[in-house]
Amino acid sequence: MNLQSLLEKSAQQHSHLCPRQILGVRIGMAGIAALGLEPNQGSKRLLTILETDGCFADGITAATDCTVGHRTLRVEDYGKVAATFVDTKTRRAVRVAPVLDIRQRANQCCPEESRHYFAQMQAYQTMPDERLLTVTTVYLVTGVEQIISRPGVRVDCASCGEEIMNEREVVVDGRYLCRACAGHSYYQTPVEMSVFSLPNRLS
Ligand SMILES: [Zn+2]
Ligand SMILES: [Zn+2]
Repeated sequence: MNLQSLLEKSAQQHSHLCPRQILGVRIGMAGIAALGLEPNQGSKRLLTILETDGCFADGITAATDCTVGHRTLRVEDYGKVAATFVDTKTRRAVRVAPVLDIRQRANQCCPEESRHYFAQMQAYQTMPDERLLTVTTVYLVTGVEQIISRPGVRVDCASCGEEIMNEREVVVDGRYLCRACAGHSYYQTPVEMSVFSLPNRLS
């Protein structure tokens, strides 16, 4: 698929087209090209790790066919418009990000357009990859085998009893615990909140 049809696909999912979605499509296309791969379409060879969610993510999905549902898309939320593309067969990985002065370049690219948003819309579609993006070879800190894990592996948490898939359990004193019970929870229950007394923590 070419850029225009991918942008249409992305905008359909997203209900509008915006600069970050265009960057998502461009970065997705560049990542795939750097690895010499095709969009996934039924295969799970390409794994994409995003550094933010939002509009950018929909552009990435349009270009790569990587999705959370297929376990080919993960978000490491650094709040950054960037993504790493991993060939799970060869283990090669490239991180693609916009050049640091991308907004200035967009304005220079479209001097007749005084509205930054529209200058970006236009520039992100027309600027060549080498003016728009940086592509860097990277090595994953957590191996592909660990990230993907194996199907059918599960264990019950020794504390809450809930089932844990994909080897995400933590071993504490020889017991298998889910991350929440091991103290790495992103939520608290009302009982825990009253113990910690939320208002004091804010002061
Ligand atoms: Zn948007
Ligand atoms: Zn648990």
